[in-house]
Amino acid sequence: DNAQPKKPSWIRVKAPGGKGYADTHKIMRENGLVTVCEEAGCPNVGECWNQGHATMMIMGEICTRGCTFCNIATGRPQTLDAFEPGRVAHAVEKLGLNHVVITSVDRDDLEDGGAEHFAQTIRAVRHRSPSTTIEILTPDFLKCDPAVLEVVVEARPDVFNHNLETVPGLYTEVRPGARYFHSLRLLQRVKELDPSIFTKSGLMVGLGEKAVEVKQVMDDMRAADVDFLTIGQYLQPTPKHHGVDRFVTPEEFAAYEKAAFGKGFLMVSATPLTRSSYHAGDDFAQLRAA
Ligand code: SF4
Ligand code: SF4
Repeated sequence: DNAQPKKPSWIRVKAPGGKGYADTHKIMRENGLVTVCEEAGCPNVGECWNQGHATMMIMGEICTRGCTFCNIATGRPQTLDAFEPGRVAHAVEKLGLNHVVITSVDRDDLEDGGAEHFAQTIRAVRHRSPSTTIEILTPDFLKCDPAVLEVVVEARPDVFNHNLETVPGLYTEVRPGARYFHSLRLLQRVKELDPSIFTKSGLMVGLGEKAVEVKQVMDDMRAADVDFLTIGQYLQPTPKHHGVDRFVTPEEFAAYEKAAFGKGFLMVSATPLTRSSYHAGDDFAQLRAA
C-alpha cells in the first residue's frame, strides 16, 4: 500500500530529549534491557521517559510471530537469559518507578511460551520494589498447555494486559499467527483464576475497521470481564508494514471513549497517541485512590 494518507495535525510527535530521557536511556543500557518504547518507535518516548515511565521487553528482541503492524524482527529467538529477571528488577529500582509495564516478544519456540520467565520477572521486581505496581503485557500462549497461564497469574501482577489489537475480520491480515477468540478467552481465564487482578486490552484503529466492529469488540471484552481499554491510532512503522487506512479523528476517539465507559470499562484511554502503556501508571494510581 503505497498511497499513505497524510499525517494530520493531531499526530504530532516531539523529538525525544531532556534529562529524564537521558537517565532512563542510561539505566536501560547499563542493565542490558530492551524497551518497547524504542523498538516500536513509540511517538510518546520523549514524554514518557522524562517522567520515568517505560515499557521493558523481556525474552529477547526476536519474535516467532510476524504481525504486519509490528516493527520487531521475526526469526529464531535467542536463548532465555536466566539473569534477566534480576536485571529488570534492578532497573525498576534504580528508575524508582511507581508502575512498570513488562512485555515480551512471542516465544512459540518455548514449551511454556515464557510463562515461567514472566513469573520470575514479576517476583524479582516485587521483591526489590514492593510498592511498585506491575503491569504485564503478554503474548497469547496459543501453542501452550492452557495451564501455563496459571504460572503467570500465580505471580500476581497488578494488571494483566493482552491486546486484541484489531477487530476479528482483520486478524488474517494484521495478526496472522493469532486467534481472536483464543486471545479473548485468555483474558477471561485470568479473571476467573484471580478476580483481584485487573485485566486490560487494547486496539489500534485506522487499519480498515468499522466503528460498529470496534463496538462489538468492546462488548466481547466486557463479556470476558476486561476492566481497562486502550484505543490508539495505528502508525505504519516502515513502508513494508501494513498501511494506514485512515486517520481516525479526535472526535471519533472521544466517541469511542464515551461508548466504552458506557459499556462498563473501569478505565479507558482512547486518543490518537494512546498506546497500551501510555500513562498506564497515572491511570492506575487514580483508580486505586478512587
Ligand atoms: Fe514507552 Fe508505552 Fe510510553 Fe510508548 S507509551 S514511550 S511504549 S511507555
Ligand atoms: Fe510484534 Fe508481538 Fe506480533 Fe511478535 S507477537 S510480531 S512482538 S506484536
